Amino acid sequence: MPTANRIIYFDHAATTPVAPEVVEAMLPYFSGSYGNPSSIHRLGRESARALDQSRQGIAHFLNCQPHEIVFTSCGTEADNLALRGVALAQRARGRGRHLIVSAVEHKAVLQTALDLRDHYGFELTVLPVDKDGVVAVTDLEAALRPDTILISVMYANNEIGSIQPLPEIGALARARGIPFHTDAVQGGGLLPLDVDDLQVDLLALSAHKFYGPKGIGLLYVRRGTPLWSQVTGGSQEAKHRAGTENVPYIVGMAKALTLAQMSRVNNNAHQAILRDRLINRVLREIPDVRVSGHRTQRLPNHASFLIGGLEIQGVLMGLDMAGIAASSGSACTSAAQEPSHVLMALGVDPATAAGHLRLTLGHSTTDADIEALMDALTPLVARLRQMTAAYA
Ligand code: PLP
Repeated sequence: MPTANRIIYFDHAATTPVAPEVVEAMLPYFSGSYGNPSSIHRLGRESARALDQSRQGIAHFLNCQPHEIVFTSCGTEADNLALRGVALAQRARGRGRHLIVSAVEHKAVLQTALDLRDHYGFELTVLPVDKDGVVAVTDLEAALRPDTILISVMYANNEIGSIQPLPEIGALARARGIPFHTDAVQGGGLLPLDVDDLQVDLLALSAHKFYGPKGIGLLYVRRGTPLWSQVTGGSQEAKHRAGTENVPYIVGMAKALTLAQMSRVNNNAHQAILRDRLINRVLREIPDVRVSGHRTQRLPNHASFLIGGLEIQGVLMGLDMAGIAASSGSACTSAAQEPSHVLMALGVDPATAAGHLRLTLGHSTTDADIEALMDALTPLVARLRQMTAAYA
């Protein structure tokens, strides 16, 4: 059972705690080595060195050149830079104005694509997905046009955990000479990030999804990809993103990525076992439930369900009162109370979508946590269903 101080945390897709080693790595750069990395003096050079080392460390895991990494303020900004930056640069070169994104993208991509369509004169194809939330490469092929200038398909979905076939999509994009962006925010600490294997030209990450701080992200931009800066000013980040670099947070992100990627295989194996145990117990112990998203091609820490006959808010509140943090769909839209666009794209009807529960595990998740969760969840669902039926 949770203690007064300990929350049993099943919401790692929303954010993760900052690892102690990450905090430790960041601390010297707040008030000790606080120089501006653009300054010539010693303090500035110390910061510039930390920035360079962080860039190199991250480039190692992405298998790219350090100068192909652009630091941003978050994953959302990285996605914005990818879509707006490439779309505007491509159009200025006369290459066309047709964009393709998948229907299950995070709003950071989807809203940006819609904005480019509605306010900047671009044309947009929103690719359908199958019932598991996966894009069919044949659908993408059919959607391509001579004037297609950018494809954006996420690596793994935040609401349902499904993983997209990036190498196949990337191969198709490359054969047609179309830049391919992936929002890899959910995959950062859990999936391999080699940009050549994935065949991507742009890739967005956000540190707070892999035990780094909130408010720092990056965009990988393959050399030669046309990109217009969206934050103009000084010449930081090879003129791709102006503004004094957030050195302590960048150092923290590099440390967090190193820790996550170095222990990825072991951590994933541990989490996948617990995740499957959790999925099996929920399916066995709670009637009228099904898994949302792909059953196997999914993030190793991600369990998500459609629970029939209730609205999930009551479940989330009941779990919270029992000291358990869980969520439904995307943390960014869960207050909006409108059916999730991801579940709609899967063909789930709005009444069923209202019962969407997302349980995402982390490094600290144990068997005992799953036990405590099930002890709370099973009777809670039964009680809420009775109340819903009585009310109806
Ligand atoms: N993309 C995906 C898939 C996400 O899950 C999130 C955050 O939930 C974002 C983008 C936005 O990242 P950030 O919170 O760093 O802006």
